[in-house]
Amino acid sequence: MSGPEGSSIKNHRLCVMAFVLEENVMNDEKYMEMAYQEALKALAEDEVPIGAVLVHDGKIIAKSYNQRQHHNQVTAHAEILCISLACEKLQSWHLDECTLYSTLEPCIMCSGAIIQSHIKRVVYAVSADRWLSLSKLLSMHHQEVNHLPVIEKGVLYEKCSLLLKNYFKNKRERY
Ligand SMILES: [Zn+2]
Repeated sequence: MSGPEGSSIKNHRLCVMAFVLEENVMNDEKYMEMAYQEALKALAEDEVPIGAVLVHDGKIIAKSYNQRQHHNQVTAHAEILCISLACEKLQSWHLDECTLYSTLEPCIMCSGAIIQSHIKRVVYAVSADRWLSLSKLLSMHHQEVNHLPVIEKGVLYEKCSLLLKNYFKNKRERY
């Protein structure tokens, strides 16, 4: 369609798209803030401050934080605990319609659980550039992976990054 009518429909569509986009950004920040609150719980227990929440149908169905020291358990990462809780809640290991929010980019172990549970979207605040993690794994092996989640990064980067930096800085000063 052309002419003024066509362009007004086009503009309307653009407006709707911009609105949806804006709403997504706002929701991502809202849920990342919840993940940040979880990370603060980890900090209070002297764990590496990482928090995660899992959202399904616009509702938080699971939230957790890193509890590796507390449980003396290597698998007790925030994301794994969250995924386990969500599977219990939904009575299914398929998390196809879920979005996982994590304050730090998921490690290779958590990435495995994300791929295996078919999580649709993963949003994280801070990239884990120094070791093999989700984005590197998917970019290197995307043809061999049976499920590719959509990735969004950098949401609430400043505060989540500062939390981790301060934690490790304090650790170094203490020991
Ligand atoms: Zn992990």
